[in-house]
This record gives sequence, C-alpha cells and structure tokens, in this order.
Amino acid sequence: MRRRPALLTWIRRSGSVARNAGYALLLAAALLLSPAPAAGELRVLASFLPMYLFTRNVVGDTPGVSVDLMLPASLGCPHDYALTPGDMRKIAAADLFIANGYGMEEFLGAPVRKANPRIRIVETAEGVTPIRAEEGGHGGINPHTWVSPRNAIRQVRNIEKALSAASPANAGAFRRNADAYAARLAILAGELEAASGRFRNRNIVTFHNVFDYLARDLRLSIVGEIEETPGQEPSAGEVRKLIRAIREKKAAAIFWEPQYPKRLADVIASESGVPSRALDPVSTGPVDPSTYETVMRRNLRTLVEALGTR
Ligand SMILES: [Zn+2]
Repeated sequence: MRRRPALLTWIRRSGSVARNAGYALLLAAALLLSPAPAAGELRVLASFLPMYLFTRNVVGDTPGVSVDLMLPASLGCPHDYALTPGDMRKIAAADLFIANGYGMEEFLGAPVRKANPRIRIVETAEGVTPIRAEEGGHGGINPHTWVSPRNAIRQVRNIEKALSAASPANAGAFRRNADAYAARLAILAGELEAASGRFRNRNIVTFHNVFDYLARDLRLSIVGEIEETPGQEPSAGEVRKLIRAIREKKAAAIFWEPQYPKRLADVIASESGVPSRALDPVSTGPVDPSTYETVMRRNLRTLVEALGTR
C-alpha cells in the first residue's frame, strides 16, 4: 500500500488554516514548475521566424538547450519594431540572441543591452555579400538576406559557430545537425537555380525589397516595388510610375507577401494587366523546423507558374 506524504495528510485533515497552507504549497509547486532554467541550460532567443527555424535545426534535440521565438510568426519583417515589456522579459532570461543583422532588427543595441547587459548577440548575416538598399537598412544594406537559401546556409553556419562557442560540450551535435540542414538547403538552392535557368520572363514586381537576394541568385530582374520604403504606402504618383514600368518592361507578375494586405497588389495588377501572386519570405509560419524548405518550394512552384519555362 502506498503511503500518503505526511504533509498532504495533515492538510487534508485540518481546516481552513491547513487549506491556506495547501495553497501555499500549490504556489510553491507552480513556481518550481514555471520555466525557470535548469542549471547549465543554454537559453537561446531568436528574433523572428526564419532565425528561429535556422536555430531549431542546428539545436535539434540537443538536451539542455532551449530555443524561444521573440516576434510572433505572423508579424513579417521586424522593420520599425519596438520591443514590448514581454520581449524585454524574454531577453532578460536569455543567454544568446540570434538576430539577422544588417539592420533588420533596429532594436539591437541599446534596447536589448538595457534588458540584458550580459546577453550575447549573434548577427547571422555576417559574411553575406551585401546588396545595397536605396531606402532604409543599416548603412544602406538590404537586410533581407535569409530569403536566399545560399545565404541561409551561411547564416546557419554562423549560428552553429555561436552555439558551439556558448556550449562547447555540444559542439559535435551542433556540427552534425548544421551539416545535415546545410546539405538540405544546398539541394533546395540547386532546385531553385535549375528551374530559374528555364524561366521565360525574368522581370518581376515585388511588394517590398524582401526578394532581392533570391532574385540575385536566380538572375531575376525586379522592375518595381509597391512599397519602396517598407511600411509606407505608395503615393498615387508612385503607383502610376509603377504601372508604367510594368507595361514597359513587360513584367510577368506582381508578387505580394502573405503577411501584408494584397489589396494594392490586386489594384495594380488589374490596372496593368498582369497577374498577382503570393511569394512568402518565410514570414508566416507554421512554427516548424521544416517550414523554410516547405515555403521556398512553394515559392518555386509559384515562380515557375508565373514566369513560364522554356
Ligand atoms: Zn522587410
């Protein structure tokens, strides 16, 4: 027969005083069960969805490493994002912050340091050959590096390096996981490049400059953008100019992004007589380690359909 712990027996037999003691016990248990880190646990916080997906693939099922996502998956790019008190708490509890860098996260620096002066910040885009940006971006660099699978491989390697420095005991596991993921990303990049060799029309219009690195890989020419400054709707004059460019350059399609309203893309598409299609810069989830590959293969099918192949 199992013996009931003495303290619980005492609580059951006593009156309201004992009930209060019971609540205190429950509260203590809740505190013990709350996500306070175990000693020696490495707590990694990723700034937005693609960084989270890359990190999850490098960490795999390595014990003692937790990976958390800061921005909700549906938010899209963190342009102009301001940290919430909830974000500050997550930063305060983390050892390592995985960012894209190149100016994507404007809150890097003082706001993050204020929340946690000891956090290590990893700018994963480091080493990617930059594309200049006319508007915004850090020092005039387009920050949307992750949308190219070739860049993604470099960003994954930077994550592996940072994780291994933070937790040398797990370096072997991180290396194996990063090798496997990088190999899958290389296959994905190869599929995109092979298909792009057969595209009939290479002129496209995008919603904002999020696909520039992918366009460089696939030798696509972006003849216009709906939002030249991310987050800022175009003026009537800019819309007319864009429609003219679409007609003159015979653009194949206008690509909108699922995390932003497609109304404007539809209006411009019907005005200029070209189709509008969704391309996803891996900004909408689901929050699953395979999402980058799934979404990029869907993008490939959309590009093949919209651009035509020879
Ligand atoms: Zn963006």
